Amino acid sequence: MRSLVHVELIKNLEPIKDADRIELATVLGWQVIVKKGEFKIGDKCRFYEIDSKLPEIEEYEFMRKSKFKIKTMKMKGVISQGLVLPYNGNKEVGEDLTKELGVIHIEQETPKEEIKKHKGFFAKWLFIIKKKLGLTPKPVRIPFPRFIKITDQTRVQNIRDLKEMYKNMTKTYFIVPYTEKLDGCSATYYVKGNHFGICSRNFELTRNADGSTSHYFHIAEKYNIEEKLKALKKKKEVDMIYVQGEIIGPGIQKNNYKLQSKEFRLFNAGYSDDLDCGCTSLFSTSEALGIKSVPLLGSVELPDFEDVSNLIKISKRNSSLNKNVKAEGIVIRSIDNKYSFKVINPDYLLENQND
Ligand code: AMP
Ligand code: MN
Repeated sequence: MRSLVHVELIKNLEPIKDADRIELATVLGWQVIVKKGEFKIGDKCRFYEIDSKLPEIEEYEFMRKSKFKIKTMKMKGVISQGLVLPYNGNKEVGEDLTKELGVIHIEQETPKEEIKKHKGFFAKWLFIIKKKLGLTPKPVRIPFPRFIKITDQTRVQNIRDLKEMYKNMTKTYFIVPYTEKLDGCSATYYVKGNHFGICSRNFELTRNADGSTSHYFHIAEKYNIEEKLKALKKKKEVDMIYVQGEIIGPGIQKNNYKLQSKEFRLFNAGYSDDLDCGCTSLFSTSEALGIKSVPLLGSVELPDFEDVSNLIKISKRNSSLNKNVKAEGIVIRSIDNKYSFKVINPDYLLENQND
């Protein structure tokens, strides 16, 4: 489960132009508007990340008009992401508070909402009993293959020691390419031995999966992925080959790019003898398979970017798939593929978050 609330330090405080009741705090790499005078630099605080949903209790009453949801917002021309409240406990910086504070993810339903979905007294009652006994149905899915990494990316603002990461990332290379982050859904395809595997973000899917996962199969067919992977695997004389990418298009997220049909864009590839084969080989694999990669946008010189705000600036751009819409952000990946993180465009969040 994602850690949504954790103990952090107030790293910096600065005034906001034309505002005398609020100021701008830096917590990790995040910029958050706080009440003026409530904190000093170095104070411990509770930091609630965007996408948190707070319980409806007295302490959070001021969040009622926002439906107790923490989102990206803009005030006095300044972007604020997260909520910072005082902390008096004795936990260490970085320790998780999500569960004990009863905070859930925006998209998770509260127990009340879950029960509400069941119409009629009997249905509600049956659901509660089943839930208590742990009998609520779970879909059948195979675990994600152990030899492939899942596609999750850390948000740059959450990296506790960016300097340390940069030191490792730049041992051999200073210039690091970045690609556009596409807002669709993650898919992994692989061939090991003679087995062709199709995976969603966290699971391998079986052929009898229900209709809701069918776009993974649709893409496999549309791009002939099984055949292409098997051919390349043979050519490379390896035991395993995999590709990972984003499925975008109608019916996926909000089809931000206004595509006419579903498409697949590669962002990672690897072979059994080189599991993290890095971005040069991503582009060559993409060419070898005849499947486009995510858009390559440019490169950054990492030591210049210890200040997260510079990376945020780069992330504020329009999509190269459709110049009329904002890009979701960028993904930065070291050449050897060992380090990567995402920088989400705050303007994209401002436009695309639900109520
Ligand atoms: P998020 O969508 O915020 O959970 O961020 C992680 C996801 O971004 C990964 O699981 C990928 O599916 C997706 N993604 C989209 N574009 C890219 C890209 N250019 N490089 C890497 N991952 C990407
Ligand atoms: Mn996504």
